Amino acid sequence: EDADLVELVSQAADAFRAGRPGHPLTVLTGPGPVRLPMDPLRIRQVVDNLLTNAAVHTPAGTKVSVEVALVPGAAEVRVADTGPGIPPDDRARVFDRFYRVDKARSRDRGGSGLGLAVAQSLVRAHGGSVELNSAPGATVFTVRLPAPGVHPADR
Ligand code: ATP
Ligand code: MG
Repeated sequence: EDADLVELVSQAADAFRAGRPGHPLTVLTGPGPVRLPMDPLRIRQVVDNLLTNAAVHTPAGTKVSVEVALVPGAAEVRVADTGPGIPPDDRARVFDRFYRVDKARSRDRGGSGLGLAVAQSLVRAHGGSVELNSAPGATVFTVRLPAPGVHPADR
C-alpha cells in the first residue's frame, strides 16, 4: 500500500532525537508528502538503522542529517554524518552480513553487523538501492526507492 515517506522520516527523526541527544540532527523534507508504494514498517527499519549507525559509529557531537529528495522516477532518503567516515576498502563490505569495520570497537557498541545487510535486502525488495559515499567528515547513505508517479516538479 502507499505510505508517506516524509511522515515516516519525521517519525524516525523524532525517535532519534529522543534517544541520541549527543548527536544533533537536522531534518530536510521539503514542503509536502511523498506517497510511495512501500511497506512503511520495513522502510522505517532501514531509516532507523542508518540513523543509529550515524550516531553509534561516530564520536559524540557528530552532526547527523536526514533528507527526503525527489529525483526523476525515484524518491531518496539521504542520511549523512560528519564523522570519521568509512575507509575505501571497507565501503563495499559494510553491506556484507556480520561485517564491521573495527571489530574491537564495534563489539563495545553491541552491533552484530547485520543492520546494513538487512537494510539493503529490504530496499532491494522494494525495487530500490542503497548507495554509500564516504570521506573523512562526510558520510552519506542514500536509499533510492522507485516512485513511478512522483516528479520533482510536482512539489
Ligand atoms: P547492527 O546494525 O546489526 O546492530 P552494526 O551497526 O555494527 O550492527 P551495520 O549497520 O551493518 O552493523 O554496519 C556495519 C559496519 O559499518 C559498522 O559496524 C561500522 O563499522 C560501519 N558503519 C556503518 N555506518 C557507519 C557510519 N555512519 N560511520 C562510520 N562507520 C559506519
Ligand atoms: Mg547498524
